[in-house]
Order: sequence, then structure tokens, then C-alpha cells
Amino acid sequence: MQLSREGLVDIVPNRGAQVAAPDVQEARDVFFLRATVEVRIAEQLSGNLDHSGAAALRDIIQRERTAIAEGRLADVIRLSGLFHQKLAELNGSSVLQNILRDLISRSSLITAVYRDSGYFNCGPDEHAAIVDALMRGDKEEALHLVTAHIEHLRADLNLSTEQQPSRNLRDIFEL
Ligand SMILES: [Zn+2]
Repeated sequence: MQLSREGLVDIVPNRGAQVAAPDVQEARDVFFLRATVEVRIAEQLSGNLDHSGAAALRDIIQRERTAIAEGRLADVIRLSGLFHQKLAELNGSSVLQNILRDLISRSSLITAVYRDSGYFNCGPDEHAAIVDALMRGDKEEALHLVTAHIEHLRADLNLSTEQQPSRNLRDIFEL
């Protein structure tokens, strides 16, 4: 399983999968790193995104909208992460891709633990705006949108107090 491979799930004998709770400092660090890595990806991808790449990204956005409409929480989180992972893949840098894969796994868990209101919605509208800016080759706008998007993700979390993973984490990640 992906989460287990990334070290986010500790398998305890006879107790099944226990999710390791990320602390607040780790949560802040993860979003700081995501902003840095994803700005770099957008910077390199701006003006270099072809039509098939854009179509693949828009397909993910459409599936994300459907999952939101149907209330499929695990799929919403998975597809949100997949959008960002696809940007890294299209960028073509294996080092950025590998680092971001790790950060997205951690982000998904952090979001599930620390998000205290609303829906687990990474934001298909913001994703669509990022794709449009990249296709136009508007680098300044793309960087602004990516930075604002990661900031929105972080701002939706309640990082004022440490949280324990709740039981519904098992449901969310289908453990
Ligand atoms: Zn997103």
C-alpha cells in the first residue's frame, strides 16, 4: 500500500494499521516544502505544457468534480493529490517528482487529521486556473496561483493544536 510504503502507516502486530499522527511542526514544514517544490515545477512547466498534458490534467479535474458531487471522500483526496503529481510528471524532473510524491502522501494524511471544517476539497476551480495560466505561458500568473493555492490548503487546516488521528482516517484511506 502507498501509505505504508511512504512510512505513514505503522503496522502494529495484532492491531492492524495504525496511522502515525503528524505533528503541527511537520504539517507546517510539509506545506512550506510543497510551495517551494510546486512553484519550481510551475515555473518550468509554464509555456511548455502541451495539449495532451493539459487534457490529462483537465481529465483529473473533471473526475475530481464528479467525486466531490458524489461525496466520495477518499477519491477526492486521491484525485487532488494526483493533479499535483501529474504536474510534476509533466514537468519531467524525476527529483521534483519523487520529492513531491512523498510530500503529497504526507499532505493527504495531514489534511485528514487537521482539517476541521468543510470538505476535503483541494479546489478544482483553482486547479483549472493553474492549467489555463500554464497553457498561456503566463509564468507570473501561474506562480501566483500555485502559491495562493498551497496557502489555501494550509489555511484550511487547524494547526493551533496537536491532533490525534481519528477513527475515520481508516475510512478515508480505506485502511
Ligand atoms: Zn490542489
